[in-house]
Amino acid sequence: MKPLDELSFDNRFARLGDTYSTAVLPQPLDEPKLVVASPEALTLLNLDPSVAEDPRLAQIGAGHALWAEAEPRAMVYSGHQFGVYNPRLGDGRGLLLGEVVNDAGEHWDLHLKGAGSTPYSRMGDGRAVLRSSIREFLASEHLHALGIPTSRALCVTASSTSVYRERRERGAMLIRLAQSHVRFGHFEYFYYTRQHDALRELVDQVIGWHYPDCLEHPEPYGSFFRQVLERTAAMIARWQAYGFCHGVMNTDNMSILGITFDFGPYAFLDDFDARFICNHSDDTGRYAFENQVPIAHWNLAALAQALTPLVQVEALRASMELFLPIYEAEWLDLMRRRLGFASARDEDKTLVQRLLRLMQGSAVDYTRFFRELGDSPADEALRRLREDFVNLPGFDAWAADYRARLALEGGDPAGRRARMHAVNPKYILRNYLAQQAIEAAEQDNFGPVRELHRVLAHPFDEQPGMQRYAERPPEWGKHLEISCSS
Ligand code: AMP
Ligand code: MG
Repeated sequence: MKPLDELSFDNRFARLGDTYSTAVLPQPLDEPKLVVASPEALTLLNLDPSVAEDPRLAQIGAGHALWAEAEPRAMVYSGHQFGVYNPRLGDGRGLLLGEVVNDAGEHWDLHLKGAGSTPYSRMGDGRAVLRSSIREFLASEHLHALGIPTSRALCVTASSTSVYRERRERGAMLIRLAQSHVRFGHFEYFYYTRQHDALRELVDQVIGWHYPDCLEHPEPYGSFFRQVLERTAAMIARWQAYGFCHGVMNTDNMSILGITFDFGPYAFLDDFDARFICNHSDDTGRYAFENQVPIAHWNLAALAQALTPLVQVEALRASMELFLPIYEAEWLDLMRRRLGFASARDEDKTLVQRLLRLMQGSAVDYTRFFRELGDSPADEALRRLREDFVNLPGFDAWAADYRARLALEGGDPAGRRARMHAVNPKYILRNYLAQQAIEAAEQDNFGPVRELHRVLAHPFDEQPGMQRYAERPPEWGKHLEISCSS
């Protein structure tokens, strides 16, 4: 374990030069206070978790100090926002501080979000508010604990600097970690500006850094696209299986690593609703929960378009055809495990689909349903769960088929409970829980955020004394309007 100032950097992206990013220094925020840090994320950098107590972390986290080897840069990219091409986006309020190399030889980008204005800020102030910084922090670390690929979060630093959104709020910064900050929109930028040599150079670098096995393939670029597609499909399968709604699936928010990226007005489903829209400015429901699958496919098509100077269209099309089958196989595999099936049978897909149709329009809490279904004996669990369904004959027929399917699994009931509880979280990041912690943090009380983070870092474990985080949300908590301004 290292002290804070002994990180070693290897800033590969910065070395690509001014075609890809611009040197910008962070603009500090006043009176920094460390809100919360993630011990697991600190460990990724081989930092001792006690570093969270080091006052220098808050200094760095609010833009007052830099690691000696950091080289802050704002990246340029573009992207499709709500289906419309925006030719120039880029890091408008975040800086890539540099790439830390840990003891395992992994590169981790450190990105300071909310660091002030950059050449890509357009009309924005370059800032992030405490509310959205805490939301991104909590979600990053929780999704990781759920087994959903995601960027990570090191810490949030609050300040006394005011930032104006719908109202005056406290400014803050988040230090985000990811093995890459390259987005689909990076490739779109170099494609649509006709800088195809720069496009090829970026693809070559990304392959070398993150997809080296493509180099052994006869068509490295085609193989690269195929692997990005596979990872994206696997990520979306996990979102859908766990009820995660991203809310702003613009192509500039899609990571080239297939990790969940750029958290805005996201939500986990409380009551199951396939048509749920978490972003209240998404009037048409483009990014509604059930649309995330076709939208991911649409976004991959936008990436494919940007790669047409490098890959034959036929090859790109052939990969696009694989998206749905890969997605479905991954999703069904996880849903089977959520239902307690270790084996796979043809009728499973229908059984899952019937269950979701019954949940739609009932008042069934999506997370609690699966957790309680794992309780023993199964008959009793099903009897309790039945209460929440509207279509009782439908539920009874489903429950009978479920019992019959479960019987084919064999095994002892205690094994079933342990197996199911290992994939069905007891604790999920509900918007109202985040909201309560944020309101306390805005008053300088950081205890609730820290406790919520600790609970959500172990979502599958029974945690004595933490039952209040596992309860059904109060009625007001189900209808919170989450602002997309951040
Ligand atoms: P987002 O919706 O957060 O993914 O951001 C979309 C684009 O707007 C990105 O280029 C961001 O850097 C930029 N952006 C968002 N908020 C701000 C802000 N407050 N100031 C400057 N740029 C911003
Ligand atoms: Mg973004």
